[in-house]
Amino acid sequence: MTRVQLRGVGKIYPGRRGSDPVVAVEDVSIDVASGEIHAIIGYSGAGKSTLLRLVNGLEAATSGTILVGDDDITGLPESRLRAVRGKIGMIFQQFNLFHAKTVAKNVEYPLIVAGMPAAERRARVAELLDFVGLGGRAKAYTDQLSGGQKQRVGIARALATNPGVLLADEATSALDPETSREVLRLLSRVNREFGITILLITHEMEVVREIAHRVTVMDDGKAVEQGSVFDVFSNPQAPTSQRFVATALPTTPAEEHLADLRARHRGSLVSVTLRDGGVDQPVIFSTLAARGVSVSIVHGGVTEVGGRSFGRVTLELIGEETAVAEAITALQAEAELEVLS
Ligand code: ADP
Ligand code: MG
Repeated sequence: MTRVQLRGVGKIYPGRRGSDPVVAVEDVSIDVASGEIHAIIGYSGAGKSTLLRLVNGLEAATSGTILVGDDDITGLPESRLRAVRGKIGMIFQQFNLFHAKTVAKNVEYPLIVAGMPAAERRARVAELLDFVGLGGRAKAYTDQLSGGQKQRVGIARALATNPGVLLADEATSALDPETSREVLRLLSRVNREFGITILLITHEMEVVREIAHRVTVMDDGKAVEQGSVFDVFSNPQAPTSQRFVATALPTTPAEEHLADLRARHRGSLVSVTLRDGGVDQPVIFSTLAARGVSVSIVHGGVTEVGGRSFGRVTLELIGEETAVAEAITALQAEAELEVLS
């Protein structure tokens, strides 16, 4: 069980040939609890990959401290870093496999480096390949595999030495949506069955929504928002978080779409937010029915976020003008309701 703590971490790259230095990461603090899947999300250039390279000690932070388990890796000499890296697994967008080696040899490689005896290595490789569902492909060469299979090999290799932490940099960004989901399910199993802490970097909101427990949003080197996936998704504060969430969750219709909806629907249009732990849907519908107001859902929906449900629906309300107005007033007292007319 390994927790990862970043305290005021910064990384400045010196400017090349007289150009200004690049502040890639600035004053980032993140607490990743042991056994947690923590996602770091942000646009390209936000500093995500740099942050990950600081955590596995491939690059040195210019400020702050980084603890991986009990090891403070900031300022450790290379000789000591190697031992810490053995406790950290890593997977990549481009898989980074050895093309001239078989699947089994790829997975075996870190065990050879770690000095494990040959008989033990064979047993461990077989066990790992079974776990990732590639038991039958041990002798295949990696370029005979699909992208999803290649990433499974990457995961098996990353797990070979029993790391406490797995770092994933855009691990599913090169895969189609269906394959991406399969790999995410596998990462979820890695987390649940072995208790491995996962620090996952992505620019894809769907990845966060599907498997992460907590999320840090990065923008221009800084951590601009942090919290449980449900809290950040259902009530994003920073503008960057709001832009990301809008791509992954049902929203109120954009202005041009709203004009289109109005042209097709004569009733009053209202948008209601349905939050797990918030107002119950039957309360909304009975409040409307009690006043003889009929309702159609014209936009939006309900989805799963961080294991809870979240929805935003646009409703068309039809009935007596005063009854509709009363129903809206009554609902505004109970629910998060916005009138769109
Ligand atoms: P992300 O992974 O979020 O896309 P990166 O961590 O790769 O972002 O990059 C963050 C910033 O740091 C970018 O402006 C990038 O150009 C810069 N950067 C990354 N690596 C280096 C480097 N080795 N030397 C100089 N600048 C770098
Ligand atoms: Mg990157």
